Amino acid sequence: MAKWEYAPAPESTDIVDIKDTYGLYIDGQFVEPASGEYFKTINPGTEEVLSAIPVAGEEDIDRAVGAARGAFKKWSALPGSQRSKFIFRIARIIQERARELAVLESMNGGKPIKESRDVDVPLVAAHFFYYAGWADKLNYAFPGRRAEPLGVCAQIIPWNFPLLMLAWKIAPALAGGNTVVLKPAETTPLTALLFAELCEQAQLPAGVVNIVTGAGATGQALVRHADVDKVAFTGSTEVGKEIQRAVAGTSKKLTLELGGKAANIIFDDAPLDQAVEGIVNGIFFNQGHVCCAGSRLLVQETIADRLIEKLKRRLGTLRLGDPLDKNTDIGAINSRDQLEKIRRLVGIGVEEGAELYQPACEIPDRGFFFPPTVFTGVSQSHRIAQEEIFGPVLSVMTFRTPAEAVTKANNTPFGLSAGVWTEKGSRILWMADRLQAGVVWANTFNRFDPASPFGGYKESGFGREGGRHGLEAYVRLQEVR
Ligand code: NDP
Repeated sequence: MAKWEYAPAPESTDIVDIKDTYGLYIDGQFVEPASGEYFKTINPGTEEVLSAIPVAGEEDIDRAVGAARGAFKKWSALPGSQRSKFIFRIARIIQERARELAVLESMNGGKPIKESRDVDVPLVAAHFFYYAGWADKLNYAFPGRRAEPLGVCAQIIPWNFPLLMLAWKIAPALAGGNTVVLKPAETTPLTALLFAELCEQAQLPAGVVNIVTGAGATGQALVRHADVDKVAFTGSTEVGKEIQRAVAGTSKKLTLELGGKAANIIFDDAPLDQAVEGIVNGIFFNQGHVCCAGSRLLVQETIADRLIEKLKRRLGTLRLGDPLDKNTDIGAINSRDQLEKIRRLVGIGVEEGAELYQPACEIPDRGFFFPPTVFTGVSQSHRIAQEEIFGPVLSVMTFRTPAEAVTKANNTPFGLSAGVWTEKGSRILWMADRLQAGVVWANTFNRFDPASPFGGYKESGFGREGGRHGLEAYVRLQEVR
């Protein structure tokens, strides 16, 4: 299958207005950090500097938590229908400014514009709409119990879905009557800071949402602040464990959404062409920077050769390059550090004896890029079969029976998601019963819906985001007598 030649179709950046310097968003205002320190944020697709971002230290965190505490009394006392109006307003503004948000997300994070435009931002709006709908129905969400807000929520999010993770955290928190201090990842702060402007536009009361930027130390100070009631974290398992240790012995509530090494399992009766699309979507969506990515492909032995041949052909049609080009399938790796991590683990895969396949593709001179990569001949003990690479790298293994597929799929410290491809409904149910994964997709992969809970088992964390379960993580339920 020859790759079609497409003329470049870059999305214009005129719609975004990136400031030279930003402030911390505390108590409804953009303020300078106490330290006077800033760091540069770049475009990973070009390595251009986009802006200077403030580093929030302990003093700033104290101000932000203080602002959230100050706003909590009034916000939590508002009737649910009033809170819901603000959240609906935010959802509508997100829709109105969708293109601006999508372009900025792609510029700062490296994801292809067609993903930020067609997946991330629509889902962000959908989450706010969904939780706006619950804000005045909390008594119906948890029948027989009264839902009370927790207080001030510290929310720390990663760089792979900056705006979407913000939505997953902020929307249910506000619906439940809480106030928040959110820290975006160091490499992707811009859409969170634009979201602060959206909150102003929505006339959200000052202090209900506060955005503090900085690196790991800022997150650490936020987690440890004594006046925080709830910590919600998405990111690496390593940092998740550290956070769990930091809140141990306190009354802080905690939810952790951590890493994954999901199995995408293809049975011999699966529709192979559709499965190939699901495999591609499972691991190459967002350059594989997806906690629930289908990074381990388990194929039934009888169809392995045929499927891998089809997959390799499909890989040859993927377009890698400028994230802002509307034809781009694979954009930029989020940072130089992440690119180095991917290179290191791929090198280890080769050293361990797995067979590497990469389609011929041109890598741009500037920016951080890595070609779509498939390893065959992978065994369970290989590091590329065990560790989260968080890049466009797929490890292929085979199985003979459903029981073997389950054993291999569960042979990991993680348990976030899995995919099963088969024509048999009974087999899907049998597998879903046995797979240790928070989400099991049947004949599809990487599908998200605000009404559907998402979260992990084992080292993938605990607590659920999305749906009523996601709301429950932001309220204290009291028995009604
Ligand atoms: P981290 O887990 O370090 O980052 C997630 C968030 O936590 C960021 O906002 C980060 O800030 C912050 N943070 C870092 N250290 C602390 C701390 N001690 N206390 C509180 N907050 C902290 O992920 P990395 O960006 O370092 O990525 C490392 C690896 O983690 C990746 O290669 C990937 O494998 C995995 N990862 C997994 C994700 C998932 O959803 N499963 C998401 C992101 C990464 P800062 O950005 O400044 O570091």
